[in-house]
Amino acid sequence: MLSLPLLLLFWGLGSQGFPATTLKMQEDAEQTVQQYLENYYDLKSDGEQIERQRKSGLVVEKLKQMQEFFGLKVTGKPDAETLKVMQQARCGVPDVASFVLTEGNPRWKQTQLTYRIENYTPDLSRADVDHAIQKAFQLWSAVTPLTFSKVSEGQADILISFVRGDHRDNSPFDGPGGNLAHAFQPGPYIGGDVHFDEDETWTKDFRNYNLYRVAAHELGHSLGLSHSTDIGALMFPNYIFSGDVQLSQDDINGIQTIYGPSENPIQPMGPQTPQVCDSKLTFDAITTIRGEVMFLKDRFYIRVSSYYPEPELNFITIFWPNLPNGLQAAYEFADRDEVRFFKGNKYWAVQGQQTLPGYPKDIYRSFGFPRSVKKINAAVFEEDTGKTYFFVADKIGDGSDPFNHFWIRYDEYKQSMDAGYPKKIAADFPGIGNKVDAVFQKDGFFYFFRGTRQYKFDPKTKRILTLQKANSWFDCFNIEQKNVFQEHKERIFLKSHIYFF
Ligand SMILES: [Zn+2]
Ligand SMILES: [Zn+2]
Repeated sequence: MLSLPLLLLFWGLGSQGFPATTLKMQEDAEQTVQQYLENYYDLKSDGEQIERQRKSGLVVEKLKQMQEFFGLKVTGKPDAETLKVMQQARCGVPDVASFVLTEGNPRWKQTQLTYRIENYTPDLSRADVDHAIQKAFQLWSAVTPLTFSKVSEGQADILISFVRGDHRDNSPFDGPGGNLAHAFQPGPYIGGDVHFDEDETWTKDFRNYNLYRVAAHELGHSLGLSHSTDIGALMFPNYIFSGDVQLSQDDINGIQTIYGPSENPIQPMGPQTPQVCDSKLTFDAITTIRGEVMFLKDRFYIRVSSYYPEPELNFITIFWPNLPNGLQAAYEFADRDEVRFFKGNKYWAVQGQQTLPGYPKDIYRSFGFPRSVKKINAAVFEEDTGKTYFFVADKIGDGSDPFNHFWIRYDEYKQSMDAGYPKKIAADFPGIGNKVDAVFQKDGFFYFFRGTRQYKFDPKTKRILTLQKANSWFDCFNIEQKNVFQEHKERIFLKSHIYFF
């Protein structure tokens, strides 16, 4: 699994930071950077011939390109965040390819394409491999006029094989991990072909590496797509397996730019990745966690911490593999170092990155919610009182208005609901309206979120102190400056490696 070891090391370290880096670690880091930039950012490796000073200038420039691609802080330095990304397993196709290779937007001229699986990995049954490849093709045929038929012998447009090490296409594989697979852009001969690294263990489940997931990505290259900077897209270069494999809207837009939409009267849509600086951004749930703030939206979290200058967006399952998508409420019970997540009538508990055993549990038995509560919209723990506030919408109270919204208070120490609830939200939190999407507490204040709005609320005086955009926690002024710059660049369609020989 992808893990976030560096991130977790930061947690709880406070201002102490790391012990002094050893020379060995520094050399390893330099080696990692050099190799990564040579492989994926077209850094030339004929080091001896390039003057030292000029070479280090080139490395800085390429490093900045890489940091920009991954949405990291552009420092030109191999900082911890950058090294972390470089150590993740990924596709072998470069993010930035040399201009001396084929330019233009390569595409298949015909819409009826054939493929052949040349050999099989021993890691899976033949039927499982066939199934994974077929499903991967289906993702792309569903959104384009393209069709794919499997042939068992002879010529085919797209040849698929499992190979290891140097397999005579100028792009050797590297043993387990790292570079997992690569594919060639549309064209004759090797064009469109997909190679999987046989030194990986291929699976059909969550274990590394899921063949269907990697095939879905590689086939995007076979059809002419390059890497996307959208972390929610299948065409993002790094291996991310969130349990389900689906084209994001970014993938669909990309492939339809080349081949047009499918002939299906209803165009399939894909999930969109939240844009942190979109002024229309709303949230499903928000919680503090060990001094940081986690904003949850669909499949993603956006994490704000004082260690990193920019908010970090990633899949919830990258952080907590056992949590579902679309969580509806979350709160941190700091006294126990626990964060609880709610969806429907179930909840999960985590400590740091660890999901606690025995979950999900049901909210009726654990908290004593009335059965009429079907889901929780928002939750927050108040440290001073040891009480958790739950915001719900349902036929509770007197039942006269099914769409009324209420809150219920739970005593964490007595482990029971306080008497006298549910109460109307509008009455006890004047000014925030009657519905809450998300809430968290910081420095004694409640931050309520409803739609694109955010209310800073003082629970002592029961007054709203400020009203802001929901995404005001992200440093959007600086991020927008960067985006204006990026929008001027066209999306690069595949100029990746095609070799003529
Ligand atoms: Zn790729
Ligand atoms: Zn190859």
